[in-house]
Amino acid sequence: MRKHSLLKTNILVCTIILIGFFITAIVSYRSNIGVFEKDVEHVSTLATEGINSQIESIFSRPVSVSLTMANDHLLKSFLTEEIKHPGNRAYITKMQAYLDAYRKKYNYDSVFLVSTRTRHYYHFSGLNRTLYEGHPENVWYYNFLKNDEEYSLNIDNDEATDDSITVFVNCKIRDANGFILGVVGVGFKVDSLQKLLHNYDEQFNVEATLINEKGYIEVSSLKNGHEPVNFFAGDALAKFKERILETSEKPQTFWYSHDNRDGYVVTQYIPELKWHLVVENDVSAIRSKFREQIAWGFFIICGVIALVLFAITSLIKKYNAQIVKLTVSQETEYHRLLHNATEELYENIYEMDISRNRAGGETTRRYFESLGIGADGSYNQALEAFSRKIREEYVEGYLDTFHSTHVLDAFEKGIHNLSYDFLCTDDGSNYHWMRISAQIFFWHSDQSVRMITYRKNIDTEKRRELGLLEETLKDSMTGLYNKRATEQLIAEEIENGKGTDRKHAYLIIDIDRFKTINDQYGHAFGDEIISEFTAELKSQFRNDDIVGRIGGDEFAVLMKNVDQTDNIREKLDRICAKFARKEFGKNRKFHLTASIGTALFPEQGTSYRELYEKADQALYFSKTHGRGRFTIFGEEVSVSDTSRIDQRDMEALLHNATDGIAKLACIDNLSLLYFNDKFAELTGAPDKMLSSLHFSGWSLIHPDDKEKVQQAIVRAMPEKTPFTLFIRLRHYPDGHSIPVRISGWFADELYENRYPLFYTVVTDLSDVKS
Ligand code: GH3
Ligand code: MG
Repeated sequence: MRKHSLLKTNILVCTIILIGFFITAIVSYRSNIGVFEKDVEHVSTLATEGINSQIESIFSRPVSVSLTMANDHLLKSFLTEEIKHPGNRAYITKMQAYLDAYRKKYNYDSVFLVSTRTRHYYHFSGLNRTLYEGHPENVWYYNFLKNDEEYSLNIDNDEATDDSITVFVNCKIRDANGFILGVVGVGFKVDSLQKLLHNYDEQFNVEATLINEKGYIEVSSLKNGHEPVNFFAGDALAKFKERILETSEKPQTFWYSHDNRDGYVVTQYIPELKWHLVVENDVSAIRSKFREQIAWGFFIICGVIALVLFAITSLIKKYNAQIVKLTVSQETEYHRLLHNATEELYENIYEMDISRNRAGGETTRRYFESLGIGADGSYNQALEAFSRKIREEYVEGYLDTFHSTHVLDAFEKGIHNLSYDFLCTDDGSNYHWMRISAQIFFWHSDQSVRMITYRKNIDTEKRRELGLLEETLKDSMTGLYNKRATEQLIAEEIENGKGTDRKHAYLIIDIDRFKTINDQYGHAFGDEIISEFTAELKSQFRNDDIVGRIGGDEFAVLMKNVDQTDNIREKLDRICAKFARKEFGKNRKFHLTASIGTALFPEQGTSYRELYEKADQALYFSKTHGRGRFTIFGEEVSVSDTSRIDQRDMEALLHNATDGIAKLACIDNLSLLYFNDKFAELTGAPDKMLSSLHFSGWSLIHPDDKEKVQQAIVRAMPEKTPFTLFIRLRHYPDGHSIPVRISGWFADELYENRYPLFYTVVTDLSDVKS
């Protein structure tokens, strides 16, 4: 993308520079050519004018000299007299001297005279020859005689001047009757004319040629008219022949172009000579030089552009590389700072381009590489790759939460934050808790939905949190589930068991007479006993059974997946016996019993409440039927509810009774297991003293009556026969005697599974007169 824009920019810059160059080149070419053409026209015209005036001055003098000679009387008389002096040397010498005097006077190369009568040709060095018709060298003479002109020009070799090419000006000499006596004239070497043209050619860079009416070259810097050469033969100017040979007095000018040759031409007709002066300025060389220069300019500009582009491109690339390096280093630095700042909070921060399903920054691209999918891999591929580190049960949730389609969905619904907690591993075996939080936002610069993800190792807090959760479920003293957790867990299990063939047994276990333990040995000891009892209780059940503490000395257990009721019964029997046998307490050995009430799922209840109520009733039965035992609801609790006496009613009754009532176990010290208010009042002993486990029932009896009592107990015990005795009690504070009647009967139960116990009603006989 960046490469393309650089290329496009370069092409644009090149095009602009080239267009600029071409426009400048064309404009300057046109203006230069314009100036140049004007210059050429001007120079050519000037040269033409110069040559023309020079030729005029060159030819006007010999013509006038020739005319002067033609009218010379001496020469006329010489020609008239010539016939009288045939072969006279003196005469000829005189003639020669006269001609030579003319030559010298006017400084010409040659002076001649032809006599029409004798056809003798005289020149400054004597008689040269006799002319006769038909000889090619004499054509000029006969032609001249035939035409009407008084003088003519002729270029020829001059025998008198070593055959050098000479321009002759010929003039007719006539007598008084107009008869032609002869032809006289002067000659000058053509070289001087050629030199003149050559000088102009050199000075004005033109090619000047004198041609005659027929188009043959008379004089040019290189040629002379001695040999006939057609000026137009094969020349570029052939098609302008007529124009050039026009005899107008005004000069003709035109531009021509033919066969890679072009130039400017100025022609001027010279009527005195009947010649045409043609001045040609050939500009083809200069034009091609111009073009060559433009081509060079083009090549140079191309070279310069290439160099400039190369320099700019390398500079931009270098600059870009530095910017990228700087950006990357800044990003790295930023991430390092961020990482340091958030080290405690986040492990890594990555940015994703969700719309395009790819990484959203350099760091993320490098992270993709580290995942093995390559920097350009898709975001969903990265998701898939990372999910391999996640514990199986969390993979689906992770992919569902962060898959690009879900992220886009969430964003559309206005959700901008996502979070997911999961267990993941780095080494494949040790898992730790991690939280990925993500923020979704719309990035206007490139119109994409983006997401920044933050990873946080939440192992410590998660485990603490789970621990706390556990703690809220547990009872702090025993480590068992607390009441709420127990109810909830058991209720869940019951719910799950509905519609299955699973059977569970729900138990409520209550320590017997725990109040007494507290009262006699203090709460700390009571706590100790509860802890030990808990450990013992827990050890009696399977690990997956639910064991919880639902009251002070009250526990609930769900025995899961029990098969036979008989097996339950056996198990509960074992447990009761185990409790009764076990010695509790560290410093003090102590025996206790626990009562159990049981209800079965699903037979007796399919909800926690139902099971609880029934188990509670069964427990009550155990408590009221000797304690230290278990009852399965529906078995022993067959007694109709209406016929049962509520213990609380019973206790109220006992407390309000006018007689003292007590329950005693036949242990050595005759333990007082229960007493009502009236009984305490009769003895005068404080409740605390009476409740003490070490308190001996014997201490209440007058020493003289002790034996009587002992015998009555021994008698009644085997058959549980009720008995009645009249004895004296010893009033505790002062030791005075109180006469009482004691009615006693042994109960079916045993205290601590061993000791027989009996109830007694003590009636105060103090007011009864003996
Ligand atoms: P019963 O055989 O009828 O169960 O007689 P009990 O004395 O055990 O009577 P009950 O179960 O009604 O009373 C339990 C007593 O346990 C009441 C309370 O003072 C005592 N208790 C409850 N929680 C704790 C505890 O955490 N620590 C101690 N030390 N005593 C507790
Ligand atoms: Mg209890």
